[in-house]
Amino acid sequence: MIKTNKLVMIPGPTPVVRSIQDQMARETVAFGDAAFVKDFSEVIADLKAMWRCDGEVFVVAGSGTMGMEMAIANTTKRGDNVLICSNGYFGDRFIDMCTRKGLNTDVISAEWGASVTPEMVEKKLAEKQYQVVTVTHVETSTGVEAPIAAIGEVMKKHPEIIYIVDGVAASGGADQYMDTMGIDVVLSCTQKAFGVAPGLTMVWASAKAMEKRKSLGAIPESYIDFDKWLPVMHDPSKYWGTPAINLVWALKESVRIMKEEGLEERYARHRRQAAMFDAALEAIGFRVAAEKAFRAPTLSVYLYPEGSGIDDAKFRTVLAGEGAQTAGCLGGFAGKGFRMGHMGNIDKHTLVSAIAAVERSCVKCGYAVELGKALGVLQKGLVNE
Ligand SMILES: *Cc1c(COP(=O)(O)O)cnc(C)c1O
Repeated sequence: MIKTNKLVMIPGPTPVVRSIQDQMARETVAFGDAAFVKDFSEVIADLKAMWRCDGEVFVVAGSGTMGMEMAIANTTKRGDNVLICSNGYFGDRFIDMCTRKGLNTDVISAEWGASVTPEMVEKKLAEKQYQVVTVTHVETSTGVEAPIAAIGEVMKKHPEIIYIVDGVAASGGADQYMDTMGIDVVLSCTQKAFGVAPGLTMVWASAKAMEKRKSLGAIPESYIDFDKWLPVMHDPSKYWGTPAINLVWALKESVRIMKEEGLEERYARHRRQAAMFDAALEAIGFRVAAEKAFRAPTLSVYLYPEGSGIDDAKFRTVLAGEGAQTAGCLGGFAGKGFRMGHMGNIDKHTLVSAIAAVERSCVKCGYAVELGKALGVLQKGLVNE
């Protein structure tokens, strides 16, 4: 047998389509190049319109974690009270980040597999004056989607508070509308549902968040200061830090693909795709770790069937050999299952190949599933696509 190509089915990076790869392979130009400046401006304008942002968009070199830090740095000052709504590993990431900045943090934690609810947030906001609330839209360690719109309704009753959404594993795959959802800051990055290589963070800040930034005066951070980047975002021929030119082009192509598919259809496709994947794996005995009400459209945590005798490390190694790279579980789910992304620019071939690889791996690891059973469920869904 010739070597099988590996599909990147981890929850980011996700598969990068040829037309996006081609943008990264282009000859690099000066950041002041007139054509590049125009391209960069268009990306910023598109992102602003698509997320229905009435403020500013920042596109800066760095990973998603930098986006989280950028959101916090530009909306808080030492001594502020922050309410962190955490559904797992990435929600918790805000705790250390905020504590280091000298913020007082309170945390509402959901059981792994469940989500913090609007009621829990409402109760907490009635007890104490917070300056900022953070919510992780899709928690990558559990495959849980938080009800960001319903939490947004609670936030609308507290207009003095800044509502930050970590959109990293959601943006471009799950509905995010800043205006109707009452979101003040969304942060994301390129390697998840945008389907671009890692390297850029995107931060959307509402007019209210920009007012908040202004009220803070000088902040301790420099590279991630909105004030430093704002002139560049308004006119990309200006300089603060050198933009990641080829990645900006790649992001532009990703945005073009999103517009071509239609954002609403893209979100709907992700929900259909996720339901098919979950049903396919359930058909061969796997359990979806996220509670039904909170299943994410972009990635899932699949727990091994009871009594299957599957060894986690071996299974994922075999699965990678069969052509699908997946990720191990974190926290309470560690060793009990695997994490699989189903987001971004993935087509029918990819979906079919990934499920087929899972079936072969089960058999190779001694869990005798009926080959084609999960695939059949997926195919019945895909035939209507
Ligand atoms: C991946 C991820 C991050 C971190 O992004 P990096 O690019 O790895 O820094 C933060 N939040 C969520 C929800 C994520 O899925």
